Amino acid sequence: MSVHDLKFLQDNIQKLKDDGVYRRLPVLSGANEAEVDLNGKKVINLSSNNYLGFANHPRMKEASIRATEKYGVGAGAVRTIVGNMDILEQLEELLAKFKREERAFVYQSGFNCNAGTIQAIAEDGDLIVSDELNHASIIDGSRLSRAKKTIYKHSDMDDLERVIKENRDKYRNILIITDGVFSMDGDIAKLPEIVDIAEKYECLTYVDDAHGSGVLGESGRGTVDHFKLHGRIDFTIGTLSKAIGVIGGYVAGSNAMYEWLVHRARPVLFSTALPPGSIAAITEAIKMLMETTEYTDRLWKNAEYFKGKMAGAGFDIGHSETPITPVMVGGEAKTMEFSRKLLENGVFVSGIVFPTVPVGTGRLRCMVTASHTEEMLDRAVEIFKKTGAEIGII
Ligand SMILES: *Cc1c(COP(=O)(O)O)cnc(C)c1O
Repeated sequence: MSVHDLKFLQDNIQKLKDDGVYRRLPVLSGANEAEVDLNGKKVINLSSNNYLGFANHPRMKEASIRATEKYGVGAGAVRTIVGNMDILEQLEELLAKFKREERAFVYQSGFNCNAGTIQAIAEDGDLIVSDELNHASIIDGSRLSRAKKTIYKHSDMDDLERVIKENRDKYRNILIITDGVFSMDGDIAKLPEIVDIAEKYECLTYVDDAHGSGVLGESGRGTVDHFKLHGRIDFTIGTLSKAIGVIGGYVAGSNAMYEWLVHRARPVLFSTALPPGSIAAITEAIKMLMETTEYTDRLWKNAEYFKGKMAGAGFDIGHSETPITPVMVGGEAKTMEFSRKLLENGVFVSGIVFPTVPVGTGRLRCMVTASHTEEMLDRAVEIFKKTGAEIGII
């Protein structure tokens, strides 16, 4: 046998199959819309992060095409060499204004942004204190830094204060990191309390607002805006790939933050800048949000409509405070069966099970968007009712 048989990987893959967690990727033929052509079948899409329906928006596509005509398809270099286009600088200025912060620094993805920023700001002698449910990219960014790491129980402010009290004297900086919106349950971080604790013990604060960007706050300005905490959070991360519909991430904060990251953010120093078409589409999206609240208004109206109907039908929809709508099922196998049958019946909603969520808390995570029509949502609820009854959930 040659080493290229990769027998060690084949063994691992067989184990995935034995455990029933082996997967095939679903294939989309066409744009990510409220209804999609998935695996050759037209279905209602309740699985995307395209909250505002921007991923295929005509105004953004036109802006992207115009920029591609002028600037080409690629940046051609990292920003520190010759990949720093004027439209990228302009986007950063616009984002800072939108977020009501001094500066914003753009990365090629939200994942990169966490990996690069945490690594650049936390050093040996510092402590990172992280919510136990924080996103994988925060965990990876923390691992890449030389700081010590510890977690506190999910949104448990007593536990957070306990951890900080026990450690405050032992470290130079303590960096408290939390998601703004937790993506599996749709609950919002207790930012006002976190900020109070941070100020009491002189800690730094870092909020990853991937699911709050374009969703919470005035016209989607995010969780910090929702709580009116401008100037009291040191680092606010946003994504340009979820509600904004394109690709990329950014961190908003102070001038000092920006200047340091220009010198130390490894994903920006060592990886090519965003393509011009994407930069232009993102810029158009931010302008659209600054012009009107109609997109976010429609998102919230649709989410409330759907949640009302699902709760009315007898489903347990958890305790979400945002458009993320988990439908709690419980067992892992049952959750995956529900998801599979819903797809056969015309609704695509992915099942989320251990290890992404704790054992026995499997759920279908429904993502309602601004571009679903009431008719589509009604149809989705009817399919949920029929399928849920079939497998004994309601
Ligand atoms: C999706 C997500 C990211 C990664 O964002 P991308 O732009 O898709 O790379 C980071 N943090 C959180 C909390 C997320 O939900």
